[in-house]
Amino acid sequence: MKYISTRNQNPSEGLVNSAEAIKRGLAPDGGLYMPCEIPSVSLDKIKELASLPYEERAAEILSLFLTDYDKKCIEDDCRAAYGAERFPGGAAPLVKVTDTHFSLELWHGPTCAFKDMALCIMPRLLSRALEMTGEKRRAHILVATSGDTGKAALEGYRDVDRIDITVFYPQDGVSPMQKRQMATQQGKNVKVYSVKGNFDDAQNGVKRIFSDKALAKKADEKGFFFSSANSINWGRLAPQIVYYFSAYADMLNSGEISLGEKINVCVPTGNFGNIFAAYIARKIGLPIDKMICASNSNRVLTDFINTGVYDRTREFYKTMSPSMDILISSNLERLLWLAAGPTATAEYMRALSENGRYEVPRDILSKIQSVFKGYSCDESETEKTLRETFNNLGYLADTHTSVAVGCYNKYLAETGDKTKTVVVSTASPYKFPYDVCRSIGKAPETDDPALLISTLEKLTDTKAPKSLTDTLSLPVRFTKVISPAEMENAVFD
Ligand SMILES: *Cc1c(COP(=O)(O)O)cnc(C)c1O
Repeated sequence: MKYISTRNQNPSEGLVNSAEAIKRGLAPDGGLYMPCEIPSVSLDKIKELASLPYEERAAEILSLFLTDYDKKCIEDDCRAAYGAERFPGGAAPLVKVTDTHFSLELWHGPTCAFKDMALCIMPRLLSRALEMTGEKRRAHILVATSGDTGKAALEGYRDVDRIDITVFYPQDGVSPMQKRQMATQQGKNVKVYSVKGNFDDAQNGVKRIFSDKALAKKADEKGFFFSSANSINWGRLAPQIVYYFSAYADMLNSGEISLGEKINVCVPTGNFGNIFAAYIARKIGLPIDKMICASNSNRVLTDFINTGVYDRTREFYKTMSPSMDILISSNLERLLWLAAGPTATAEYMRALSENGRYEVPRDILSKIQSVFKGYSCDESETEKTLRETFNNLGYLADTHTSVAVGCYNKYLAETGDKTKTVVVSTASPYKFPYDVCRSIGKAPETDDPALLISTLEKLTDTKAPKSLTDTLSLPVRFTKVISPAEMENAVFD
């Protein structure tokens, strides 16, 4: 299977296989790689998946897209990535919250956020890609993170052969717990910087380095090249398709649905990666009806889905769901490409970068609206949802997950649609203990991560994940704060 850039106007050129797409991250024309053909998964195949453990479900789905990889290698990598050592609570358990609300918990990995689902396996896929493409240089992974990607990538790439990684996070855009997790990162091949500004400043800095030919040449002379671990990389997206199949398989196994019955999904969204993976799952045959795109106060996607106007020129809010504080949702480009084709996509992206906005025509918008529903929750709605979900349903959700739960509740109230719905849970409540405690009713008088954790444990009678409590005793290694303009130098430092 070949991959093509979303901005490629001449498909007789520039196609690559999946190893090359994963190695590059971003296409040379600034577009994102997409598979040229969409494979298909039959209901019989879905039934087969239901009898397999997560790592084997993953190998089956991944090998549909990574056709140049040896299937045996994919199986080995999936076993190493998703086994009980990294996911002691199961890779993607589904918890029944109400008769229609099923919480897909994607945070039982080493860093307690859903980014682990992809970043446990992506370094292995990249390592193999270096071999498969005859690459002689080292790969240097650049990551702009709104909090969770950074730690998951650092953990995934730490001490991986022939790969180095530099992570940039916005100075005041991450929680104290996230900061601590990154600042204490171990490994010989890792660097972490705090950047003045918000997530978009950090992400733009990384994009600038990626697109600078002179920097690429300088890196080449020093024996390395740049690659990304952000969700613009197909190697991040492909592993995320898996858990939607896995959730469906689990619902089959528990008798909640019958084979072929449609479900809805509701995804707390930032960069549009996670929900786009669900859309691919739907496209290749998973019976999904509606897809609810949940945003926090930075509701640029809600407005886009409801009006067809994408407008990033608006106030940026710092919220208690920082991993969704994003005004440029990069993966939306992939949806636009599927809906409107490469010429229009390139034009929208040009308009976005020059004017900060674009508008899609009515027919394209109708196509999108036939599948996607956009809702948002502001801070007080999120807080109320978190509290009521815990008090009334006995389910403790983190702040990001609570945005999704709140949006799902709005959808339910508006439509009365009783379709069973997978609401994606993207982080452990213990990654955001201050806001979780505050929402339940008691604002702790401390910002010390250790005290916050023990407060939340007492308040809710639950237990913090061991991987989080373990970080608290590690020494802080990274404290540097830089401006966006200093990012280039930091990389070559
Ligand atoms: C990254 C992240 C999101 C947003 O996911 P996207 O793929 O960027 O849409 C939501 N919640 C948490 C906890 C995250 O870390």
